[in-house]
Amino acid sequence: MNFSDLGTNYHLRREYREIKERKTMADTYNWLILQPGALPLQPDGTVRRDREHRCTAVLIWPGDADPCRENTIMVDPCFTDAGYEYAEEQLKQIGARFADIGRIFVTHLHHDHLLHLPYDVPSPHFRPFRPTDSLPGLTVEHCPGHDSMLLALAFRAPDERAVWIVSDAVLDEAWLRAWNFYWPNQYSPEEIVETWRSVAKIIASADLIIPGHGAPVEVTEALVRHLIDTFPTARHADHCPDVADGLRARAESFE
Ligand SMILES: [Zn+2]
Ligand SMILES: [Zn+2]
Repeated sequence: MNFSDLGTNYHLRREYREIKERKTMADTYNWLILQPGALPLQPDGTVRRDREHRCTAVLIWPGDADPCRENTIMVDPCFTDAGYEYAEEQLKQIGARFADIGRIFVTHLHHDHLLHLPYDVPSPHFRPFRPTDSLPGLTVEHCPGHDSMLLALAFRAPDERAVWIVSDAVLDEAWLRAWNFYWPNQYSPEEIVETWRSVAKIIASADLIIPGHGAPVEVTEALVRHLIDTFPTARHADHCPDVADGLRARAESFE
């Protein structure tokens, strides 16, 4: 081997590493809360009158790129006036505008998640992101219960965390911790059991949950242990012991 071979090998190795890094970054996604979700109804039945009913809207785009029409997906774009203003501010901070958003994804067909902009705002032309439009590193996960067709999005963030945008499969941290479901919708026992199975599926894989009506929830060992301890109080828990098994498996992953 002479020096020029060494140089070539070094060059190839560096190129390989650069390609690998690029690929790794391309398979991750940045995420940004455009509208922080909120819910006046509390799991104990009380109503927080100071809270607006609004869903969590999230923008995602590839980890290695700037957001643009070709690479952005906006999840649950149902904006209130206040939420829209907040979203414009958030977009400004990453050097983007609503017109730079290419695709939208609606997690389920409840009215509080469908595309809605303030009445005086001209709607940019958004294209739908379809569950079949597969993107590397981005998966669409069926999480039924709250709605039989509810779809979550799962991906890895550049910081390596597994992020799950789950919409109303988890309303917010308080509803999750209380093992409660959005009872004004009057669910059947089967739908409630499905809700718990979806929660177990999410907890099994997510490091960070972005719920439908609340702030991101970190999946910590303490949270999982709390859910294991309180699961027996969940309605129809006796019909789905597999939920507790799934939670215990996740708890063990922290050990
Ligand atoms: Zn809903
Ligand atoms: Zn909702």
